[in-house]
Amino acid sequence: MTANQEYAQRWQGALMNNYGAPRMPLVRGEGLKVWDADGTEYLDFVGGIAVNALGHAHPAVVRAVSDQVATLGQISNFFIAEPTVTLAEQLLQRFGREGRVLFCNSGAEAVEAAFKIGRLTGRRHMVATQGGFHGRTMGALALTGQPKKQEPFAPLPGDVTHVPYGDVEALRAAVTTDTALVLIEPIQGENGVVVPPAGYLRAAREITSATGTLLVLDEVQTGIGRTGHWFEHQAHDGVEPDVVTLAKGLGGGLPIGATVAFGAAADLLQPGQHGTTFGGNPVACAAGVAVMETIAADGLLDNVKRQSERLIDGIEGSGHSLVGHVRGAGLLLGIVLTEPLAPQVQQAAQDAGLLVNAPAPDVVRLMPALTISDAEVDAFLQALPGILDQALQAHGEG
Ligand code: PMP
Repeated sequence: MTANQEYAQRWQGALMNNYGAPRMPLVRGEGLKVWDADGTEYLDFVGGIAVNALGHAHPAVVRAVSDQVATLGQISNFFIAEPTVTLAEQLLQRFGREGRVLFCNSGAEAVEAAFKIGRLTGRRHMVATQGGFHGRTMGALALTGQPKKQEPFAPLPGDVTHVPYGDVEALRAAVTTDTALVLIEPIQGENGVVVPPAGYLRAAREITSATGTLLVLDEVQTGIGRTGHWFEHQAHDGVEPDVVTLAKGLGGGLPIGATVAFGAAADLLQPGQHGTTFGGNPVACAAGVAVMETIAADGLLDNVKRQSERLIDGIEGSGHSLVGHVRGAGLLLGIVLTEPLAPQVQQAAQDAGLLVNAPAPDVVRLMPALTISDAEVDAFLQALPGILDQALQAHGEG
């Protein structure tokens, strides 16, 4: 039995099956590289599902976490830790607006807090989008627009209308003066990197402002530099959300989420109404500070834009029959295939030493670290035609 097989067997015996059988055990990572238990090396274009903003084991994160855990680990929300305040200030600085930050431990929890803020408006009705993904806790699941994930757990809380994503008129028709909040991802990540038509976010802002409804943007996947902006909505002129949810890239691999509220929305939650034991944990926040500072100091937003263009040009320019087009922004990209062979591409890529993800049957998602180098993009582009050939062949043989 190989080391990989041994881990897989232990996994079967001890872990609850949440995402299906894992494809392989990974034991080490450095930058974009990861190694499995058998010692095989891979270039990681999944990045913990858009989590590893700085790649694996980035020295700045390692140092920040080590120093903080050696200085002051978990305290409680009765007290204040320095990295927690610093991270909140740095986030607000990057939003360029006054507001308040509530830390938690995951994307779903960040959405739960937004749900509660919505309830505190005194209105019950909420609007979210079909195909949208916001997490798997009950409130976040109620807002998620994917019936297959919701049905086993019905009834879900809330009075939620799901409208087609990107459809301004459907949104206008659904939102009334009884609507507490509208929740939108600037790009639908889990649904297959779906980009709305230009002007959609601005229209959502206008519609919600007219009815006194909170505009909540779920930037769990698109935030923290992922799309080449600190936050994707900043790429859309004049769109100022009332609430933004963050997680994933924020902690550079440590579990942390944040709900950021602006203006009157920042005053809705009253002291004692909401919180979690680990929310604002100094170690996770120290990692977050390291991520924010490294993105700025190393010019990573520019790197994201540059490598994004190189990836899109290289993939679309490959002329391969399986490539339709590439959609997304920055380093959240979806290769739309001409046939529903994304699972085969994912397997062929893994066989060739590249880790990618298949969120939809015809979409291969790329979300590498924001630190990705020219050479790593080149390696991907060089390997891609062979991977796509292999996927076609596997399909033909199957
Ligand atoms: N919102 C969005 C947009 C997401 O992509 C995700 C996770 N894929 C979540 C919320 C939930 O985050 P978590 O898995 O950390 O609960």
